[in-house]
Amino acid sequence: MKLKKYLSLTGVLHCKTQLRIGGTKDGIVEPGGVDNPIIRHPVTSLPYVPGSSIKGKMRSLLELDKETGSNIRDNGKPCECGACLVCKVFGSHGMNNKEITRILVRDCPVTQESETTLRELQAEKGMNFADIKSENIINRKTGTTIKGGLRTQETIPAGTQFSLTITVKLFDNDNEEKITEFVRKGLSLLEKDYLGGSGSRGYGQVEIKNLEIKEL
Ligand SMILES: [Zn+2]
Repeated sequence: MKLKKYLSLTGVLHCKTQLRIGGTKDGIVEPGGVDNPIIRHPVTSLPYVPGSSIKGKMRSLLELDKETGSNIRDNGKPCECGACLVCKVFGSHGMNNKEITRILVRDCPVTQESETTLRELQAEKGMNFADIKSENIINRKTGTTIKGGLRTQETIPAGTQFSLTITVKLFDNDNEEKITEFVRKGLSLLEKDYLGGSGSRGYGQVEIKNLEIKEL
């Protein structure tokens, strides 16, 4: 199997609603601190979207889809047959890894324009490049707020845009059109579904704009 070429799919990942991709807390939450921070770049503190979040979601949606899906396994785990198009493009999870993973989804930084917007908001409101939402936990019996039951959660503001880059590796026997169409299909399923957490509450609706494919 010989590597024929690399393709690069680039575009803009636009957050139509707020996006929630959780990070980790450093140590104990200070009073007035945030319980559930978003994931941030360690140096700039700007939010980013991990490539693994996009890749994992695309894969699960393609596996579920009636056109592209393979057999859903009873244990709910990713397909590991090593032979279907999902395994070929995304890599097999199991021991049957006969294929070299065809796509690589890079971590997506905020676009220059969104960085400017976030920095302006930061200067104006000091919001640390995020929206903060507080939620009360309701006592199921009394219907009142549980004392000390206030949770705070950060989200990436709606309208924020990220630069998306997917690299596709094609080998000599690969059908280029079939594989690129499959990746496009994964992105269109992502637009119909959601990215990150709390999708049932309306978070994580994204749109892929200016998608371009070129050979590297
Ligand atoms: Zn498979």
